[in-house]
Amino acid sequence: MAKIGFIGLGNMGGPMAANLVRAGHEVSGFDLAATAVEKFTAAGGRGAASAEEAVVGAEVVISMLPAGRHVAGLYLGERGLLARLPPGTLVIDSSTIDAETARQVAAAAVERDLAMIDAPVSGGVAGAAAGTLTFICGGEEATLERARAILEPMAKAVFHAGGAGAGQVAKMCNNMLLGILMTGTAEALSLGEANGLDPAVLSEIMKASSGNNWALQVYNPWPGVMENAPASRDYQGGFAVDLIAKDLGLANGAALNSATGIPLGALVRQLYLTHAKQGAGGKDFSSILAFLRGERPG
Ligand code: NAD
Repeated sequence: MAKIGFIGLGNMGGPMAANLVRAGHEVSGFDLAATAVEKFTAAGGRGAASAEEAVVGAEVVISMLPAGRHVAGLYLGERGLLARLPPGTLVIDSSTIDAETARQVAAAAVERDLAMIDAPVSGGVAGAAAGTLTFICGGEEATLERARAILEPMAKAVFHAGGAGAGQVAKMCNNMLLGILMTGTAEALSLGEANGLDPAVLSEIMKASSGNNWALQVYNPWPGVMENAPASRDYQGGFAVDLIAKDLGLANGAALNSATGIPLGALVRQLYLTHAKQGAGGKDFSSILAFLRGERPG
């Protein structure tokens, strides 16, 4: 069993760290939000007062933060964590961030003889709680092999996408598609309901037809169709509108840099940005259905 320092105990990091505790690892966790640390302590983890404290004596450091600037702020610079960790420490960043920052942090880690992978995840909060996330990794093969045993209690699948930053590129492509699929699903359900259909019945029909997709299977955006989906609890928790807008921004930036046309990704980003501007940034991203129906966030 390993000594693990876990930084970022939010919607995803909290249940991921709790699964590592359940698997018998000694996990010390830190989050800027005291309530997140309290929740983690209640799940059996050891709460730390700072990131520095969380990684004392750790063989493995895992981070699950919102965006690239948080990850760079945590690891880089004279006061950053990389400067404190002993050589050989395994560093796993599971945040979804831009590939450039991921490569920059990985290069700084290598300079200090640390082993690092970018390992963003897919599977949502439910997957984090159930330990069934898909890890999409970038970095050296040997480092990933070392990381596998640590990822195991949190994962149903672990993929190696390529070198440093490749996990982030693959995750960005996936999340652009996710935003498009969620918006398309919300649009179809809205259209059906406006034309006299029961959204629950339409969902079943599309699930068994060629429109079937992940949103219909496990994350239906229509309130009440799926008991455990964020739509059925006023779009609380889950995956924030601000975060999918961030991911679509990453896709748009990469598309500009590589002169790739992503018209749907660009449009859906604008929809989510407008939705966020109207006050829904903290709501779950399936609330795009309410936006399409002209409802303002409550
Ligand atoms: P969240 O906002 O719930 O959690 C992030 C946590 O990081 C917060 O609790 C915040 O207080 C903490 N934090 C920020 N800066 C910190 C710092 N310097 N030190 C310590 N703690 C700090 O977000 P989340 O939904 O858990 O998402 C985390 C990452 O995972 C994001 O990059 C997101 O895009 C990605 N992701 C989310 C989902 C999802 O369904 N929510 C799914 C896959 C991937």
